[in-house]
Amino acid sequence: MDLKVIGCHGGETPKHRTSAFILDDKLAIDAGSLTSGMELKAQCALEACLVSHAHLDHIRDLATIADNRLQNGCPPLIVAGTKQTLAILKKHFFNGLLWPDFTKLPTASKPTIEYLLLKPEVTTVIAGYKVRSILVSHTIECGAFIIEGKNGSIAYSGDTGPTERLWEVLNETPKLRAMLMEVSFPNSEHKLAKVSGHHTPESLAIDMRKYKYVKELPTLLYHIKPVFERQVERECAKIKGMNLTILNLGDHFLL
Ligand SMILES: [Zn+2]
Ligand SMILES: [Zn+2]
Repeated sequence: MDLKVIGCHGGETPKHRTSAFILDDKLAIDAGSLTSGMELKAQCALEACLVSHAHLDHIRDLATIADNRLQNGCPPLIVAGTKQTLAILKKHFFNGLLWPDFTKLPTASKPTIEYLLLKPEVTTVIAGYKVRSILVSHTIECGAFIIEGKNGSIAYSGDTGPTERLWEVLNETPKLRAMLMEVSFPNSEHKLAKVSGHHTPESLAIDMRKYKYVKELPTLLYHIKPVFERQVERECAKIKGMNLTILNLGDHFLL
């Protein structure tokens, strides 16, 4: 699988973009920077977007990509998420007030976006991949995704603090090529991390040891808060016995 990093930060500045990743130019994972970080042609090439949860830093560019795709006459973009995520998108985002309801535009029979409900731990085929959502531990309903292609799987956790079920499922997942994992705050901000449902390097290192192949698995870290970037990077560099890489904008992997 071809993975492109469009946005990989837990905040925004001119040098930092919020979470958005692209598989094989056709499947987006989260929508934090799909339009601020991609040209129109690449925006229109997407078939679907997996949404981990409804926090703004993961959904915001659904608004602008819908607008661009409507004007470009692109096929409907599948927006896939679990029940609460889709309910929040419908009620609070594409609600005809904050932003138009793009499931009815330009017409209800040929809309700009279509919602696809993901039931936790049930496999759904999306854009040619087998996708499973596993609920993780955040302040609102939030999912991880296990995305299976022809040659193996990758895992992506949305925002989370310490969690259990994801590691149980990953321990039973064959051919796991890589994992994208969040880490947000430095160890000194562990109270803030706990109340906001995020990891520090310390909590991440403890949690990841629940995975039996943690030494080998390429683990790609994202969602670092720009304010704490250097500190979190330094603390991650001290974690031993894991295969960690901190992601940067524009990174491109073949997995
Ligand atoms: Zn969040
Ligand atoms: Zn976030």
